[in-house]
Amino acid sequence: MRKYSLRAHNTFGLDVFADHFLEYHSEDELRELISEGRVTVPFLHIGQGSNLLFTGDYYKGTVLHSCIRGITVVSEDENTVCVHVGAGVVWDDFVCHCVTKGWYGVENLSLIPGETGAAAVQNIGAYGVEVKDVIVSVDTVDLNGRKRVYSVDECCYSYRHSLFKEPSSKSVFVTGVQFRLNKIPRFVLTYGALREALSDEKTLTLQAVRDAVVRIRRSKLPDPAVCGNAGSFFMNPIVSRACWQKLLALYPYMPYYEVDAERVKIPAGWLIEQCGWKGRSLGQAAVYDKQALVLVNLGGATGADIVALAKAVQDSVYQKFGISIQPEVLFVGDGMKTE
Ligand SMILES: Cc1cc2nc3c(=O)[nH]c(=O)nc-3n(C[C@H](O)[C@H](O)[C@H](O)COP(=O)(O)OP(=O)(O)OC[C@H]3O[C@@H](n4cnc5c(N)ncnc54)[C@H](O)[C@@H]3O)c2cc1C
Repeated sequence: MRKYSLRAHNTFGLDVFADHFLEYHSEDELRELISEGRVTVPFLHIGQGSNLLFTGDYYKGTVLHSCIRGITVVSEDENTVCVHVGAGVVWDDFVCHCVTKGWYGVENLSLIPGETGAAAVQNIGAYGVEVKDVIVSVDTVDLNGRKRVYSVDECCYSYRHSLFKEPSSKSVFVTGVQFRLNKIPRFVLTYGALREALSDEKTLTLQAVRDAVVRIRRSKLPDPAVCGNAGSFFMNPIVSRACWQKLLALYPYMPYYEVDAERVKIPAGWLIEQCGWKGRSLGQAAVYDKQALVLVNLGGATGADIVALAKAVQDSVYQKFGISIQPEVLFVGDGMKTE
C-alpha cells in the first residue's frame, strides 16, 4: 500500500511515496524515536529534498525529517557573533535573519534552497563563499541515540562534501549548527557577475548584496515552486591538462577554470549545450532552456524520466567530448541510497 506522499518533500515535484515518514522537533524526540525502534532500516534523512532524485515512485523505508527550529545567539563580542541554528530552519530564512541583524558571512548564499542541517552536510556554496567558512561546529545524534558535536575541522569539508556524506556517516543525523559571523563589514566580491550587479551601489550594504544575489539567481535558475528541479544536476568535470589541450585545439572558445598544475575544470553546462541539449526534452523531463546544467520536470515527469534524460545527456557528452559527467544530485532508489 502506498503510504506517505513525498511530493512536497522533493523539489523535482515527483510523485513518490514512502512506507514511513517521521518528523521530530528536538534531539530528545529523535532519540525517543530511535529507542522505540521506529527508525527502521532502510532509512533516509531528508531536508527539503532539493538535492535529491527519487529514481522510482516508492521508497521502501523510513524517511526522517528534522523540524528542529530556533536561531539562538550563543556568544558575541564587538567583532563577531556565534549563533546556534536548528537543523530544520530553512536556510534562506537564516540568511535573511543574518542580513536583518547586520551579521556578515552568509549573504552570498542567499536563496539556496534547503535547510540548515543539509547545508552543513552538503557544504553549500555560491559566489565565492562556502558554508564551511562560517561553521564553528555541527551537533549530531547517531542511530544509537548518542549525541556528538563535531568541530568544523572534524567535518572534513571539501567542495560540496563533508564527513556526513560518507557512507560511514549514513546513520549520523545533524540536529543543529553553530556559526560564527562578522559584525564588521566584510564582503566577498570575487565573482564578476556579483560585482557587476552591485556596480551602481554607492554604499555597499548586506541587503544590497543579498538583493543582487537573489536577482542573479532568479534570472538564471528555475524556481522549484514553479518548475520542478534540483539545481545543478551535474558536477563540472575536472580533466587532465593533456585532455584539455586536445579539446581546446578542437574548440578554441571552450570555457575552463584552472584547478592546479595538472588539472582543468570544464563547465558541464557548456558541454551539454554544445551537444544541443539546451531546451530539449524527453517526454516531460527537459534540459532547462536558460541553463543547460539544470534538468527540469515539465509536469508529471517520473524519476525514471529524469534518469533517462540524464543518461542521454551523459552519453551525448561522452560521445562528443570523451568526458564522463557525473550527477551532483543524490540518486535515491527504492531503499538504497547511492551517490
Ligand atoms: C534551484 C536550486 C538551486 C540550487 N543552488 C545551489 C547552490 O547555489 N549551491 C549549492 O551548494 N547547492 C545548491 N542547490 C542544491 C541544494 O539546495 C543544496 O544541496 C541544499 O543544501 C539541500 O538542502 P535540502 O534541505 O533540500 O537537503 P536534501 O536535498 O533533502 O538532502 C541533501 C543531503 O543531505 C542529507 N541530509 C539532509 N538533512 C540532513 C540532516 N538533518 N542530517 C543528516 N543528513 C541530512 C540527505 O540525506 C542528503 O544526503 C540548489 C538546488 C536548487 C533546487
